[in-house]
Amino acid sequence: MCNGLQLTEKQSLLIHSGFDIVMNDEYYKNKLSDDAYNVCRRAATEQPFSGIYNDHWQTGKYLCVCCEVPIFTSKAKFESGCGWPSFYEAIEHSIRYLPDKSHNMQRIEIQCKNCQSHVGHVFNDGPQPTGKRYCVNSLSLFFLPSY
Ligand SMILES: [Zn+2]
Repeated sequence: MCNGLQLTEKQSLLIHSGFDIVMNDEYYKNKLSDDAYNVCRRAATEQPFSGIYNDHWQTGKYLCVCCEVPIFTSKAKFESGCGWPSFYEAIEHSIRYLPDKSHNMQRIEIQCKNCQSHVGHVFNDGPQPTGKRYCVNSLSLFFLPSY
C-alpha cells in the first residue's frame, strides 16, 4: 500500500493553503498573547493608555514583538498625549507603509518590514525633525534596554 505518501490533515492543509501563511499563523498564535495576536496579525488597535510602553521612557530599542527586529529607538520617542507610544521616526528600512482606508479614514498603516506584523499608523502631525507621528501599539513592541 502507499501509506508512506499519506498526508495528515494538517500537512495537506499546509500544502493547499500556502506553507508560509499557515505556518506563520500557527507560529504567532503560539508565540503571542491573544491580544497581541489580534493587533499584530489582525491589525486590531489596543485601547489608548492601556499599553505598557505608552508612558515608558527608558533608553533602548523597541523590537517587533513577532520577529524581534529593532524598529524604533527611545531617542525618537515623544509624548504625544494620544495614548499610544509615539515616535517621530522609525529605524531606517524597518517599516513597510500601506494605504489603509478602513473605518472611513485615509491612513497609512505601518508594518514591520521583516515579518509584516501590524505595528500601527503614521500621521503627519508629529514634532520636528521629521514632522511624523508613528502611532504604535505597545502590544506590537518588545523593549530591549541599553545600559
Ligand atoms: Zn517583525
